[in-house]
Amino acid sequence: MTTTSTWVAGAAGSPYDIDNLPYGVFATADEEPRVGVRIGDLVLDLAPVAAAEMLEVAHVFEQASLNPLMALGREHNAAVRQWIIRLLTDEVERSDVESHLIPLSEVEMRMPIEVGDYVDFYASEHHASNVGTIFRPDQAALLPNWKHLPVGYHGRSGTVVPSGTDIVRPMGQRKNPSDPEPVFGPCARLDIEAELGFVVGTGTELGSRVEVTDFAEHTFGVMGLNDWSARDIQAWEYVPLGPFLGKSFATSISTWVTPLAALDAAWTELPGQDPEPLPYLAVDGPAGLDIDIEVLVNAHVVSRPPYRTMYWSPAQMLAHMTVNGATVRTGDLWASGTVSGPTPAERGSFLELSWGWREPFQVGDEQRVALEDGDEVVLRYTAPGTAGGRIALGEVTGTILPARAGNR
Ligand code: CA
Repeated sequence: MTTTSTWVAGAAGSPYDIDNLPYGVFATADEEPRVGVRIGDLVLDLAPVAAAEMLEVAHVFEQASLNPLMALGREHNAAVRQWIIRLLTDEVERSDVESHLIPLSEVEMRMPIEVGDYVDFYASEHHASNVGTIFRPDQAALLPNWKHLPVGYHGRSGTVVPSGTDIVRPMGQRKNPSDPEPVFGPCARLDIEAELGFVVGTGTELGSRVEVTDFAEHTFGVMGLNDWSARDIQAWEYVPLGPFLGKSFATSISTWVTPLAALDAAWTELPGQDPEPLPYLAVDGPAGLDIDIEVLVNAHVVSRPPYRTMYWSPAQMLAHMTVNGATVRTGDLWASGTVSGPTPAERGSFLELSWGWREPFQVGDEQRVALEDGDEVVLRYTAPGTAGGRIALGEVTGTILPARAGNR
């Protein structure tokens, strides 16, 4: 519980108060990218403050990614967070620190992490059921394995991009059931998936596992994530080995990474798991996260997916991802899968919002079943903060650019 308030003007009571403090990598006109922490609408340039105080770990703030900071591990990161809280709450520090606060409008946010491996799960029962019902109306909505393990696939880490990156409409093959032959062209069913991303702080050795109870030991923090999806390309290519080019063209993440400690008040019970998972996936106590998501298209809210309705917990995802002895490394990223709640206004993809492209939905005065060129998508995330208010996670934005057709 935070008991002291910050001296930074405009920050107290804002979604970026002293109980939030997300990290990011920023650049200014005349200096190299480096690590900062956000307070209110300002970025604290940590490197010069840490150097002046001769902090043992000062070097981690001079880097162009959060990876060296994340690799310090949970204990050191807790100490760094306490140091930052002291800097921003103790009036004694104010004169030394204030000149290193930079308005957000004067910085350019960069890719925050160097992504190692990237795994995308499928952990929302409502999303998995909706997709099953849309694509396999004559069969059970969930496949037989779904309630026994968190289903996932390996994505493409090299195309994970920071919020604000324009998304070029992908080209590819598709074959509608009515087409006699596959055709090639721009994706006609471009979609979003509103998700949450988790990044590994400290890794593991080959052959070892991360137990469910060791989640916080190995996880540095959380970020917003949009898994852009080319549904027509995906539908034709995915059998039998799963998602490939329909996903790998781009995945956007927020430029701010919220440390786990900022989410201490957001933990909540899972909605309930039946059948009981195998012992290596068993959880005790609150394992879900009470995070609200808003999906905006061209500045209109089209959906509000509630993360608290997710079936599988992030700790179960990490435990399952390593149960075979596969390593995780600093910077490895895993995503939750599309977050969809039980009601139509809580669906996290256009596929579900338009119920398989059949029911256009309102975007302001216009209607959509899929993304059009020029559309801007913004994902926003808020959670209960430890000081009693709400904190904001970094938002994820992206604008669709026309396909680049090529010569053939
Ligand atoms: Ca996904």
